[in-house]
Amino acid sequence: MIRTRFAPSPTGYLHIGGARTALFSYAYAKKHNGRFILRIEDTDIERSTQESVDSIIHAMDWLGLHCDEGPFYQTKRMDRYIEVIGQLLKEDKAYHCYCSKEELDIMREEQKAKGLKPKYDRRCLHNPKVHDDVKPVVRFKNPESGSVIWNDLVKGRIEIGNAELDDLIIARSDGTPTYNFCVVVDDLDMQITHVIRGDDHINNTPRQINILSALGAAIPLYAHAPMILRDDGQKMSKRLDAVSVMQYKDMGVLPEALLNYLARLCWGHGDDEIFDIKQFLEWFDLDNISVSPARFDMKKLYWVNAEHIKRTDSGALLGPIKEILNHKQIAYDDKLDLVAIIELLKPRVDNLNTMADEIAYFYNPLSPNSEDIAKHLTNEALALLTSFANDIESLRDWTLDNIKQLVKNFCVNYGIKMPQLGMPLRLKLCGTTQTPSFDAIIFLLGKQVTLNRLRA
Ligand code: GLU
Repeated sequence: MIRTRFAPSPTGYLHIGGARTALFSYAYAKKHNGRFILRIEDTDIERSTQESVDSIIHAMDWLGLHCDEGPFYQTKRMDRYIEVIGQLLKEDKAYHCYCSKEELDIMREEQKAKGLKPKYDRRCLHNPKVHDDVKPVVRFKNPESGSVIWNDLVKGRIEIGNAELDDLIIARSDGTPTYNFCVVVDDLDMQITHVIRGDDHINNTPRQINILSALGAAIPLYAHAPMILRDDGQKMSKRLDAVSVMQYKDMGVLPEALLNYLARLCWGHGDDEIFDIKQFLEWFDLDNISVSPARFDMKKLYWVNAEHIKRTDSGALLGPIKEILNHKQIAYDDKLDLVAIIELLKPRVDNLNTMADEIAYFYNPLSPNSEDIAKHLTNEALALLTSFANDIESLRDWTLDNIKQLVKNFCVNYGIKMPQLGMPLRLKLCGTTQTPSFDAIIFLLGKQVTLNRLRA
């Protein structure tokens, strides 16, 4: 069975690179009826917080990337790591190292002076200097010759000579296991078949493979997805860019749109740009993940978002829209058909915040600016609106078609073009001229509200 994992370090919120990795891991497991595991890599006690764990899980829920197993916390698995360290020591696959920092510094300086690549020279393996007053670290005995080769499912064949690799410290002098080691034991115990992660982890892979081999474990397949950069090719920065997934929610982006955008950013299925998660699961495969870094383009994301807004059932947008209306303290109630208003606004907006702003004038007209008033609410226009209000009042069957017909007749009768009525009408009804077609607005506002606003 395919088993994938997403293994965030809870030192901050879920960022978009992480969300992309989670999406690919989730998708690969789901596509193959496998299991998607969430593992919290919280061994960095200083920087890990429960708040970060909660916010990561919250963001994954919002995206709909639900795990099948977990969350598992590394801090709760310490006994197991220590057990495996003991096993490696016993099997002579790891050794104690008593070297002090100063000693190691001198060793490195000497190596550098000889033009060698700094690397632990194994002096404690060959000639252990046991100090009773020094607590040793544990080093993994990396193979000295040969190379580590893996067929990366994204990057292709990768070969790293063992001579390049140091004898990694797997336990600190206080006995606590180190990062790469915990990852290995977890991937082993959690029977991970596919490690899908960002390519910033490529350097860890040969070390992890060597430890897995020493443990007699099956080596998972690795897929290293590219980094997501800013559109100018620079690294994204927390200060300058929206890097947290939940910031996109605040920007009125739908979770389906963000997933679609992130998927498309680092992976392709021909020219297909817009798809939902179901379609993505059908199409997705690791070998279509792009090798080179992706560039995040906010405009494109908004375009994808607009397409998703159009395709989403208006009833399904009601919940998220009400949340934004409440948050923005925009008044609304059930007197108007909010779902129908959403339906009308859907083709006009590329994010839900703008939609909420447009919904506002259905409930309370905005205050028009003086330029618009001077331009559109002339005495002549006001006289037209008075007559128009009278026609509206006498309309019997309140249907959109009847309103459209009434508008047409009115323009013919008064010998005017549609915008001559439309602009003042919009301004009176909504307080802005930037609205959808005014017959639809009149229909949705209903007769009484329309008359009240026209006669106000
Ligand atoms: N904890 C690592 C991170 O947040 C991921 C490790 C892995 O996927 O192997 O970058």
